[in-house]
Amino acid sequence: MNQPLLRKRDPACDRVRGNPVTSPVAPSFLAFFCAAWLCLLAVFSTATAADKKPTPPTPIAVTDVKPHVEWLADPARRGRSGDSARKSANYLRDHFRRLKLRPLFGESYFQALPGRKDEKQQPRTIGQNVGAVLPGRRSDEIVILSAHYDHLGVRKNTVYPGADDNASGVALMLEIARQLATRKTPPDRTIAFVGFDLEERLLWGSRWFTAHPPWPLERVKLFITADMVGRSLGNLPLPTVFCLGSEHAPQLRTVLDRVGSPDGLEVARLGADLIGTRSDYGPFRDRKVPFLFFSTGEHPDYHTPRDTPEKVDYTKLARISNLVLAVLTEVADGRADPAWTDQVQLGLDEPRALYRITSLMMEEERQQELTDLQKLLISTTRNKCRQILDAGKITADDRKWLVRASGLLLFSVF
Ligand SMILES: [Zn+2]
Repeated sequence: MNQPLLRKRDPACDRVRGNPVTSPVAPSFLAFFCAAWLCLLAVFSTATAADKKPTPPTPIAVTDVKPHVEWLADPARRGRSGDSARKSANYLRDHFRRLKLRPLFGESYFQALPGRKDEKQQPRTIGQNVGAVLPGRRSDEIVILSAHYDHLGVRKNTVYPGADDNASGVALMLEIARQLATRKTPPDRTIAFVGFDLEERLLWGSRWFTAHPPWPLERVKLFITADMVGRSLGNLPLPTVFCLGSEHAPQLRTVLDRVGSPDGLEVARLGADLIGTRSDYGPFRDRKVPFLFFSTGEHPDYHTPRDTPEKVDYTKLARISNLVLAVLTEVADGRADPAWTDQVQLGLDEPRALYRITSLMMEEERQQELTDLQKLLISTTRNKCRQILDAGKITADDRKWLVRASGLLLFSVF
């Protein structure tokens, strides 16, 4: 992804290039010509390999994801909170049913979420997770794809539609479910699709789920959640989707490398400790379940009535859906065996991603939308990343610096 790094000199080419100049024997014209040709070929193949990352097939289209966002973020859904979230929960269940996916919670697609007890000391139901299962050849290993479907409801007579947060993630999940459910062959591992409720209320839906899972969580090989995947960090025109969590499972980094990304999309891999617990991956991370969190980041319409469907970038959402489908399929079909590690291992992925993003932000047309403080933060972070990349290694102190700077830069400034 990081162009300057990928353009590092190729040692084979250097050797070839060195011959005509340093050899004490004067080379013939033919030998020189061959050497030059080989060198050119080496340069060309390096550049081609670097520029042409694998591109996953793109079966999910704009016309697939858009109707879900428009339906879920319609004012008639009343911002999907509390009782008004019921219709949206049924929408998810009906979609799962049509795909002939099995209920996840025994006979039911719903998992009731209890709140405080009422005056008669009876527990009240304040929400419900919605889940379905696509059985794999192995029922003892599970992969979960999730997105929270709740939002902030109606406040002071104003509907908070939550198109990006998180109708976009739900659309992604529903269309991936469709792709996988209509495949001719079943997956190797069992796949569960979960729409969490009450994410906006301290992640209550996913906390309850992890405390009362349908199977022991040790059997979950990978948990993926998509939250806000239809806009762009700080409204800047960035082609970026952030991917957090691969630092705790090296195999997931390999999967991401292998899968590449759809044309026009760039994947920025960061450690989840850069942003703390911001979505439903939190309770799974706490239980050491390998996870990936996909998000395009916060923007000025975040948690406002302005988070509306027409502002969603549906092309980007479709691209991210195809990326997540490819990643999920790799693990569900048993081509990777993610295992948790406590030690954060990201190598140069993080400075490479941050260097790329900060460089994009500093391009002229994006600069106009930034304040002086933002510009300073961005250029300082960019310089630090360049330093780390030039050194070819990241120290513990470097990483501490990046964690602090990114916290400030990525999720506070915007
Ligand atoms: Zn939210």
